[in-house]
Amino acid sequence: MDTTMREQIAKFENYPKLLPLSDSLSFGVHMSIAGGYVELLKQMTSLNATASAFFTSQPRGWNIKFPELNKTQAFYEGCLAKNLCRNQFLAHAPYLINVCSDSEDTRAKSSDRLLLDAFIARLLGLDRLNFHPGSSSDSAGYIKIAQNINDVHAIIPDIVLVLETVAECNSKTTIGSSFALQSKSLTW
Ligand SMILES: [Zn+2]
Repeated sequence: MDTTMREQIAKFENYPKLLPLSDSLSFGVHMSIAGGYVELLKQMTSLNATASAFFTSQPRGWNIKFPELNKTQAFYEGCLAKNLCRNQFLAHAPYLINVCSDSEDTRAKSSDRLLLDAFIARLLGLDRLNFHPGSSSDSAGYIKIAQNINDVHAIIPDIVLVLETVAECNSKTTIGSSFALQSKSLTW
């Protein structure tokens, strides 16, 4: 992300209201956004799903443009028309993000992307973005995660970053393989 996009997000004020909250139990699956955000709503209807998890942006590429506001708005209006609420969705950030990477370049790209995807989630009227904590060679990784959470919270209003627990994958460097470990990111 270039500096201009970060600035654009920081200055942005025209957020939609958060979608309402549902008080009933919802069921759904992870769905593709290949056809766009509105297509996601059609998939939910065709599957009779009352919930959906989805990637806020393409999961496997770093290059991404500023969100098209007419498309996020169309999703928002579609949800209102179908009485879909914000807690019927779980927006998922791309797998590429590793905010505690040992590589400075990856960390910088990841911080920007986490911010961008939180921005997209909020434009969709949602208040939660799930992301993977990533991997680091030392426990300072937890501090970096905490810093990134604070960074996003300082810029995007009303967004909650959801830390997903992840499998250790036989790697000593994976962070957040238990709730106890995840809590380290929250104590800074
Ligand atoms: Zn995940």
